Amino acid sequence: MILTQKFQTKYDTAPFSQIKLEDFQPAFESTIASARAEIDAITHNTEAPTFENTILALEFSGEALDRLSSIFFNLNSAETNDTMQKIAQDVSPLLTEFGNDISLNEDLFKRVKALYDQKENLTLTPEQSTLLDKKYKSFARNGALLSDDKKTRLREIDTELAKLKLTFGENVLAETNNYQLHITNEDDLKGLPDGAKEMAASLAKSKGLDGWVFTLDFPSYLPFVTYVDNRELRKEMAIAAGKKAFQGNEFDNKEITLKIAQLRYERANLLGYETHSHFVLEERMAQNPDKVKSFLNDLLEKAKPAAHKEFNQLTDFATQLDGITELEKWDGAYYSEKLKQKLFSLDDELLKPYFKLENVLNGAFTVANKLYGITFKEVFNIDKYHEDVQTFEVLDFEGKLVAIFYADFFPRKGKRNGAWMTSYKPQYIKNGTNERPHVSIVCNFTPPTETKPSLLTFNEVTTLFHEFGHALHGMLANTTYPSLSGTSVYWDFVELPSQVMENWCYEPEALALFAKHYQTGEIIPQEYVEKIKESASFLEGMATLRQLSFGILDMAFHSNDPNGITDIKAFEKAAMEGTTLYPDVAENCMSVSFSHIFQGGYSSGYYSYKWAEVLDADAFAYFQEKGIFNKEVAAKFKDNVLSKGGTELPMELYKRFRGQERKPEALLKRAGLI
Ligand SMILES: [Zn+2]
Repeated sequence: MILTQKFQTKYDTAPFSQIKLEDFQPAFESTIASARAEIDAITHNTEAPTFENTILALEFSGEALDRLSSIFFNLNSAETNDTMQKIAQDVSPLLTEFGNDISLNEDLFKRVKALYDQKENLTLTPEQSTLLDKKYKSFARNGALLSDDKKTRLREIDTELAKLKLTFGENVLAETNNYQLHITNEDDLKGLPDGAKEMAASLAKSKGLDGWVFTLDFPSYLPFVTYVDNRELRKEMAIAAGKKAFQGNEFDNKEITLKIAQLRYERANLLGYETHSHFVLEERMAQNPDKVKSFLNDLLEKAKPAAHKEFNQLTDFATQLDGITELEKWDGAYYSEKLKQKLFSLDDELLKPYFKLENVLNGAFTVANKLYGITFKEVFNIDKYHEDVQTFEVLDFEGKLVAIFYADFFPRKGKRNGAWMTSYKPQYIKNGTNERPHVSIVCNFTPPTETKPSLLTFNEVTTLFHEFGHALHGMLANTTYPSLSGTSVYWDFVELPSQVMENWCYEPEALALFAKHYQTGEIIPQEYVEKIKESASFLEGMATLRQLSFGILDMAFHSNDPNGITDIKAFEKAAMEGTTLYPDVAENCMSVSFSHIFQGGYSSGYYSYKWAEVLDADAFAYFQEKGIFNKEVAAKFKDNVLSKGGTELPMELYKRFRGQERKPEALLKRAGLI
């Protein structure tokens, strides 16, 4: 069967065109069975544990399964259908079960622990040492060190948390879906752009109603509160959004939210950590709650003056325009947009002709070439999963293969929304061979039409550079072990390579390389570049305060004992006190629909957004200081960050690149806050 054998392709690329959907399920079953046999062999090895026969063997076990999983799940995101989704549902429990069988394997853990306990005497390289830590912690953080009754309690908590998180999300969804604003008088929609209006009309039609219907779904909600002139209606919408899961009905999340925080606290205690944040942050660049809190508070103090100034400016603008003297939450987006139009009058249609997709992609390639000396050569002999996909050989200055790069740009049925980078094969060194990675970026950009090529919005341009930055992290990887390679780094470090690349999109020197009018070839006017830059930091102080407030709320729930919280609204208000600009709305509460931290995986991690921005601004400031195409700085970034993956602690890697710890000043400057 093709999926379980070594691929007979040039460069070992996935043989997409020969894969049949019905092959996946049996391939999963057979590769799981072989992976299980490999684990058994390690577990029951009669020789004493060594790094090679245990840690290394564990690292390279299940290779065929990993390869298969990446092909299957990547396709399930980029080119799926009902059959694929059914297979995903069938194989996911098998994979979970296999994962649990490893992490609950006590004999295997004994071997790992024996090595971990004598780590000092093993003379390991830094990379080997990191790998040993990682393997050990994957057991210990799952309760391997606990007594049997505590293990049982841990499983109970995990099961309960999984259920509660699911219900939390279902309630938010139900509350989102249960609300609609039905408008029958067209005058009420003054200010709203035609596109949003059409969408609302067709939504009304689909519900058998006249007029227009708006919902709390973002594509419907956001244009409404941004553009509709009628203040009372904006208020109605904003309050409806703010009271999701806070209405005392069957979908109320107050108790569920507290229960989740309490169980996480209990779980952390059980595992020997002071709080949930302590547990989470152990495996983050930030390391502990104190560091995160002082990071957030420091930024808060620095951003506050600018935020208040902007808020006053916005209030003055609203006063002049409509006589409003006190801005409310439902005024923010509306007057921000009006003021932005007045100051910049920058619209996408004006910029798009300068950003033809082919030009932007070549621009990203040129930037990578100038920095890292790699070239991208489009090739047509690599198998692909859809005709839209482009394939490239990435070569170094000697013409040696660095990576295979796939690019898949346009939306279609079967591709999920958004943009992402992923890989079909990681980089690693085995038996002396440096296996080069197969990396892909998948986007949903404006497609070409019969008369026009694909012309990107500026937002799409930065998205392309962002994903391309992740791709470089994958492609330039040069590590021994696949689980420490490329983007396999701590969560609050992974956005550095991607976000730093976005900076080149604002630099005239870089834009001159690719921002050329698709018809006339004229380079984008300097005046537009200035406007793009200024508008990027427009009202950034207020936006910063908002982001910080979420991070602070997240930490308030997770870095303390939550058992004393009785009134969730009062708790939230107190936690966010230093960050607020608008008057409080009594019937609203954010925590109960804060899905990022109570349903998704962002608990004790919301700060990461700002953390990564500080890092990327600080890193780019170094480039700016020496020249944005300076080869020395680029080499340092490649040698210490891009090629190193997760082989060492990110703070160490970063300091080696930068020569010092990161400082917040570059971000504050870029954001126009100082
Ligand atoms: Zn990213």
